[in-house]
Amino acid sequence: MKIKNLVLGPLNTNCYIVTKDNKCLIIDPAYDASKIISECENYQVEGILVTHHHFDHVGALDALEHKYNLKHNTFKDSFNYEVIKTPGHASDSLTFYFKEENTMFTGDFIFYHTCGRCDLETSSISAMKESLEMIKSYPDNTLIYPGHGKSTILGAEKPLFDHYF
Ligand SMILES: [Zn+2]
Repeated sequence: MKIKNLVLGPLNTNCYIVTKDNKCLIIDPAYDASKIISECENYQVEGILVTHHHFDHVGALDALEHKYNLKHNTFKDSFNYEVIKTPGHASDSLTFYFKEENTMFTGDFIFYHTCGRCDLETSSISAMKESLEMIKSYPDNTLIYPGHGKSTILGAEKPLFDHYF
C-alpha cells in the first residue's frame, strides 16, 4: 500500500490517495476534483472515504461521486481496514485504521501534538475525551495521517491527550 498526500483548498486539507496494485481509495476529497482525478488516472478508484462532513474535507465530493459513479463511505472496496467512530470534533467523525499497514487516517480527530477543535456545531468535549481514551488501546507504532498538517505516530501523541482539556 502506498499513500500520496495532496494538500488542497483554502484550509490546506490533506487528501490522501491510497493505492494498492492498480486500485486506489480517495480519503477526504477536499477540493480541486481535477487534480484528484489526474492523480488517480492510472488506478481503478474503488472507494471514496470521508472522515467527516466539514466543508473543507468534501469540496470535491460531489464531482468525484459523479465521475466514478460511487457513493462515499459505502466500504465496498477490496482494501482491508477498520472504520472506528471517533466523535468529538464532529459528531460523525470516523477514523480509518489499516491494521496490516500500522496506519490510521484520523481526519480532524488527532493532529500532530494536538486534537481537533471542539467548539463547532456538532462538537463535544466529552465525546472527544472518550474517543481519545478509546484510541489509546491501539498500538503505539501506528502511523497517524491527519486531516491537516504533518503525520505523526500514535505513541508520541498518547502522553499528550490528558493535557488537551
Ligand atoms: Zn473538521
